[in-house]
Amino acid sequence: MRRPSLSRRTVLKAGAATAVATTVALPEAAAAARPDTGVSAYPFPLTAVRLLSGPFLANSGRTQSYLTFLDPERLLHMFRVNAGLASSATPCGGWESPTTELRGHSMGHVLSALAQAYASTGDTAFKTKGDYLVTQLGLCQDRATARGFNTGYLSAYPESFFDRLETGQSVWAPYYTLHKIMAGLLDMHLLAGNAQALTILTRKAAWVQLRNSRLTQTQRQNQLRTEFGGVGETLFNLYQLSENPAHLTTAQYFDHAQVLDPLASNVDALNGFHANTQIPKALAAIRGFHATGTTRYRDIAANFWNFVVNQHSYAIGGDSNGEYFQLPNRIASELSDSTCECCNSYNMLKLTRQLFFTFPSRAAELMDFYEKALYNHLLGAQNPASSHGFHCYYVPLRAGGIKTYSNDYSNFTCCHGTGMETNTKYGDSIYFYNGNTLWVNLFIASTLTWPGRGITIRQDTTYPEAPTTRLTVTGSGAIDLRVRIPGWTSGAQVRVNGVLQGSPTPGSYLAINRTWASGDTVDISLPMSLVLEPTPDNSTVRAVKHGPIVLAGQYGSSNLSGLPTLTASSLQPSSTPLQYTATASTGAVTLLPFYKTHGVRYTVYWNVTSTPTLPAFVAHYPFDEASGTTAADATGNGRTATLAGSAGRTTGRTGNAVSLNGTTAYVSLPSGILAGATAFSIATWVRVNTLANWARLFDFGSGSGTNMFFVPRNGGGVARYAITAGGAGAEQRIDAPSALPAGVWTHVAVTHTGNLGVLYVNGVEVARNAALTTRPANLGTTTQNWIGRSQYSGDPYLNAAVDSFRVYSRALTAAEIASLNSSGS
Ligand SMILES: [Zn+2]
Repeated sequence: MRRPSLSRRTVLKAGAATAVATTVALPEAAAAARPDTGVSAYPFPLTAVRLLSGPFLANSGRTQSYLTFLDPERLLHMFRVNAGLASSATPCGGWESPTTELRGHSMGHVLSALAQAYASTGDTAFKTKGDYLVTQLGLCQDRATARGFNTGYLSAYPESFFDRLETGQSVWAPYYTLHKIMAGLLDMHLLAGNAQALTILTRKAAWVQLRNSRLTQTQRQNQLRTEFGGVGETLFNLYQLSENPAHLTTAQYFDHAQVLDPLASNVDALNGFHANTQIPKALAAIRGFHATGTTRYRDIAANFWNFVVNQHSYAIGGDSNGEYFQLPNRIASELSDSTCECCNSYNMLKLTRQLFFTFPSRAAELMDFYEKALYNHLLGAQNPASSHGFHCYYVPLRAGGIKTYSNDYSNFTCCHGTGMETNTKYGDSIYFYNGNTLWVNLFIASTLTWPGRGITIRQDTTYPEAPTTRLTVTGSGAIDLRVRIPGWTSGAQVRVNGVLQGSPTPGSYLAINRTWASGDTVDISLPMSLVLEPTPDNSTVRAVKHGPIVLAGQYGSSNLSGLPTLTASSLQPSSTPLQYTATASTGAVTLLPFYKTHGVRYTVYWNVTSTPTLPAFVAHYPFDEASGTTAADATGNGRTATLAGSAGRTTGRTGNAVSLNGTTAYVSLPSGILAGATAFSIATWVRVNTLANWARLFDFGSGSGTNMFFVPRNGGGVARYAITAGGAGAEQRIDAPSALPAGVWTHVAVTHTGNLGVLYVNGVEVARNAALTTRPANLGTTTQNWIGRSQYSGDPYLNAAVDSFRVYSRALTAAEIASLNSSGS
């Protein structure tokens, strides 16, 4: 929320009663009258999912206690005053104070949170409280004309705020506030079955139409320069429900051309824009696509997500510094006490979810981000020491930062409000469906009762403390189960009733399509490893992660004047899950999950001058296993590789080899296989069955921007090794005089030390480049280290057998390469 300068909030603590959940029959979410266009996955209603014991349930309980505690008369006070109705309640403070121009927005958050808490728990006390607020708001709305407002106006401040907005005078963000109230009314209708809430909302929408239809297009666009929240999104949602074309027209009054036009052209012009003002515009756009089928809306939303996630987000998944987007890929240079406003991630997760419905082919990538921001930003933004779930506004990422929180009645910031919403809907993105297809996206202890199918899925887990989860089926029927295999894992295993399933591929979904019976179990193992994730603008500034979980150095009450320097090789796991010890320039330090870091100063980013030392012989895959999806590392270093995409086995140069089919099969090596290496060798046997231009023998990278690869034949008809940290345009290359032959076992090796790279075929040097200044250390910790697959999704897969694949962190000599060739190993 763009806000005027305010004094920092004080942290208060208060006790509270705990809401008691009761089991009652619940209304299903009202079905939309207009089906969404372009959607191929659907959420279960919140009523279908119940959280089990774990950090998410604990967070939810604290927010529920706060909702129970909140005095509705105090929330209603300024609405009644504005409507000329009597109120003797004590006014709220903070952003709800009688003189604050944003007053009334928390009413909307509370309505949404009450509706969600009711749907998530079945506790009717939440619905009763919400129903009371709706009735009282209806009385206030009825007074509009008597107060000289236009029909349908409902707010805690006078309508003159909109006169000021329309005439370019200073006013905070009147539509932002109205959107929150409108969204809360819609949630009370959809999730808590309150009919009057829809009536009030419909009258309010007519008021929005009146105010805007009488403006010129230019006047409306000028007005949109002031933050207006998700009013467009809510109006598209209302149109899907009401089928009233006026609601569509009114929603489109809020299409902000200055922001949407560059996004439609896939141009990142976000620098200098207030972050949380823009995210709801992308949310409105994707709902506009679902409502109208206009692909421009879809592209705006997808392009925006790509920019924010890939070029503007910190390791914890949050974005913005001082609430504003910065230049793309500015992270290490933008660390402060005012990074990562929590509302931004609340809205980015909403956007990610809508894109998941829209782009099933990108599901894994979308949900990897969802998990990142959920665990590392939002889960840890609520203070566990507060029984009322007080919430962060910013999450500081400067070294020595400390989280600060809201309070009962004298804060009411935007993030306090979206925090109430976040912590009452954790059940909404664990499972999705389409027909018999069931996606398991998040590993959160919960039960899913599939409406209308008599099937219950129970998920038992202590994830992420343990990298495992178990699903247990009750009931029977066909389910095409899709288990998310995160991109950060390596060596994942999925077992049904103890039997290993298929070949889980990181960054995809493992499909298990079968008829299930009561008692069937699915055990999922997702090995996590330590990663030092570099920032894009300074590869020595890194965040420490264990699997998806960001770890933070714990500094107690000690402030820091700059980033500590971490000795990477000193990182040692302790016996407590997700806890490490290390040595830094500040001395010995303990690292804990950032989401568990509260009440102390911390650092998320470090200067890392050396990555963990690689052994000279990093990994060796003889591929001699008879079956299965794992390829053992014969060096004993434990860098097990995974056969993916139906990779099989065949007779090798010696023993067996891995067989790659040219369409789906590849081998995935662990993250950071050459992280930090300033020299290396890769040597392997390959028998290409069919040459296809640009098919990769190997491709180690983190996407098309950062990679090192070898192709048996490129578009120019020769074999090539290339490495880049800046996309195809920055590739440094060694081209062979010809392509590799097809149909015969061929030995290939690449070595690199200093600036010299040498390419060998069958033990003999065939080409070199003495100006190779890019080396594996420049690529950071690569996460997509593949044999047979390219970073570019359009390239063909390798059709070949590969045997005895070797990785070294030093350059082998010509004699050593010749020896490997002559020995056949
Ligand atoms: Zn906020």
